Amino acid sequence: MSEVIGIDLGTTYSCVAYINGQQPAVIPNLEGSNTTPSVVSFTATGEPLVGLPALRQAITNPENTVYSVKRLIGKKYDSPEISQLRDRFPYRMAEAPNGDILIEAGSLVYTPQEISALILSYLKRCAENYLGTEVEEAVITVPAYFNDHQRQATKDAATICGLKVLRIINEPTAASLAYGFNTRKNGKLAVYDLGGGTFDITVLEIQDGVFHVLSTSGDTFLGGDDFDNRLIAWLLDEFWKEHGVDLSQDRFALQRIKEAAEKAKRELSFTPETEINLPFICATERGSLHIQKKINRSFFENLTVDLVERTLVICEQALKDAGLDISRIDEVILVGGQTRMPLVRRMVADYFKRQPAARINPDEIVAMGAALQASIIKGQTRELVLLLDVTPFSLGIETENGMFQKIIERNTTIPARKTMAFTTVENNQRRVRIHVLQGESQVAADNKSLATFDLVGIDPAPAGVPQIDVTFEIDADGILRVSARDTATGREQKIEVKPAAGLLPEELQEIIERRQKEVKNRNEEGLL
Ligand code: AMP
Repeated sequence: MSEVIGIDLGTTYSCVAYINGQQPAVIPNLEGSNTTPSVVSFTATGEPLVGLPALRQAITNPENTVYSVKRLIGKKYDSPEISQLRDRFPYRMAEAPNGDILIEAGSLVYTPQEISALILSYLKRCAENYLGTEVEEAVITVPAYFNDHQRQATKDAATICGLKVLRIINEPTAASLAYGFNTRKNGKLAVYDLGGGTFDITVLEIQDGVFHVLSTSGDTFLGGDDFDNRLIAWLLDEFWKEHGVDLSQDRFALQRIKEAAEKAKRELSFTPETEINLPFICATERGSLHIQKKINRSFFENLTVDLVERTLVICEQALKDAGLDISRIDEVILVGGQTRMPLVRRMVADYFKRQPAARINPDEIVAMGAALQASIIKGQTRELVLLLDVTPFSLGIETENGMFQKIIERNTTIPARKTMAFTTVENNQRRVRIHVLQGESQVAADNKSLATFDLVGIDPAPAGVPQIDVTFEIDADGILRVSARDTATGREQKIEVKPAAGLLPEELQEIIERRQKEVKNRNEEGLL
């Protein structure tokens, strides 16, 4: 029988777990570590390396080493967040014909889904190696604040590498599941999750095995990388002031600075002072130049305090949405590597007026929760656990005057299904265009476009007579399906779905076939 696993597919690190007996346990990777860098590097022959071997290539082969792909998945090339980020990555990106992102490495281009698939495939292999059996199914976690495209793209990544996704669950919900499973306490919980690239806050209630998410809020562009970037920007600035040399365009130097900044940041979580030492960072006609800087914790805290403040504003929103005062929270749990920073712990403790729960490994708890959920779905646990999650955004359609009509409100428990009736605006109108959006603004253009649907073949009738029922359905993975029906004729109408982003089924199939061929070739060459 094949085993099921839980995967925390992180921005910077990923982790995989399974259920050993009745307890969740982390599966070490092929190098023996509990977490794997979410990095893929392509060698000169185009062979992909994943995890630690890939991370080691980051300095010598920066242009072909892809990291933080989770920040790109399900995003548009020209979206404001990506435009801001593009120049900071040493690898190159291009725009796909549908506006999605493509990553250029060596002579090939990859979708973010394919890069994530390589990471998932490596984790699958680690699990198979460790468990000594095939692994075909997994629960994969995503930030609670991931939108429909990002969730679908994550699912597609799993499909590419031959993993069946039992469920996509939200990282904070997974963490609460593992925590609640261990402590068996009832009460209201705030899960503060600050990872490498994303921030999520989830407020939930645990009552006798029912995990009921009350609200969730977050920012998919706020995480540990931003803390690193503050230090990087300061180092570049100092170097410019001291030497008049701009290192920001030097990909090799930038990669070394990035690594050193992240390492210094981690050290400052445990020591009051650290030193960044980068000899021979660049060569000029005046000779080689070096970086040598002492940094203390309070300096770094000043540099980043506003980032933590931003997370607290989001916490405020989540509490408001849950209709709870801070005093009603019984426990705060911290998830994500960045919560190891003392400033984060201090500010979160001050804000919630309580110390966060101890003895939680923020790097492993999400994968453990995912493994638990996998075993619950497969009926392998004795416990009776029910997970009631919510949708993080309001979903609806654009109305005639450019306004946004919400059909499902944010923080609605999922799975959810709701139908709303609409009509035509012109006499004898034969077709209506349904523009699906997510967001909170009343103005459609301010929200995120998800898809457009054409409902065709409406019987001629005066404006306002036909009744068109638009149904929104969100499944347990948080993925949305929309359908439209002309009830005037009583017949189901055909709808043309034009996804605004992501892979079309035929593109996904083509990638799967290509990937299978690559794996076969490598097997024949003895590379895998
Ligand atoms: P995750 O996505 O949960 O793996 O979080 C990874 C983020 O946590 C990265 O930005 C790391 O640099 C950061 N991180 C890991 N360990 C520490 C630490 N000791 N202090 C501060 N940040 C850390």
